[in-house]
Amino acid sequence: MATRMLVSSPNFDDRLIVKDVSLLVIHAISLPPNRFGGPGVTQLFSNTLDPQEHPYYAGIHHLRVSAHFFIRRTGELIQFVDPELRAWHAGVSSWRGRERCNDFSIGIELEGCDTLPFEAEQYAVLAELLAELCERFPIEGITGHSDIAPGRKTDPGPYFAWGRLRRCLDAMGQARVAALIEPAGAPEDAEKTLMVWPFPTAERPA
Ligand SMILES: [Zn+2]
Repeated sequence: MATRMLVSSPNFDDRLIVKDVSLLVIHAISLPPNRFGGPGVTQLFSNTLDPQEHPYYAGIHHLRVSAHFFIRRTGELIQFVDPELRAWHAGVSSWRGRERCNDFSIGIELEGCDTLPFEAEQYAVLAELLAELCERFPIEGITGHSDIAPGRKTDPGPYFAWGRLRRCLDAMGQARVAALIEPAGAPEDAEKTLMVWPFPTAERPA
């Protein structure tokens, strides 16, 4: 397993029923939007975002949110909240007819956005983390934030390649975990993220 850095977030509370953790939710985030590598996400989850630092921060610095895990572009894995506790990542949401997904899910943020492919390191670390969490909790499904909050959320976005994640898990001998992934993954998703520089100009997102 990749090195795991612990950064505590004050934004959590107890789950009503710990044994109930049955869903893994994949998100994407970057702060400022579309910029990678800075301290923005860690600051957001620890309530230390400076509203003066970026115009976007002024609108979100008051939010009290968190995710259990964050995987940076480099594959660095940060844990903010113990997965036995309830992090505040899903918001108004519903899965298989059940509302308030925070109650029974674990939230994993990938550093990313809606217009760029994710990194190979992120898929590798994510696949390992999913396998570990499926050992530890009675997980019944793996899905995206946009799937449990349609119309309100778009992450992890069109560049997140569910098909590639499935292949990563299959290659690790984790077909059982791969089978829990709910969003369909078009084969071209995998190819899209496997493209290396230079991207054909027409394919480059703005
Ligand atoms: Zn999200």
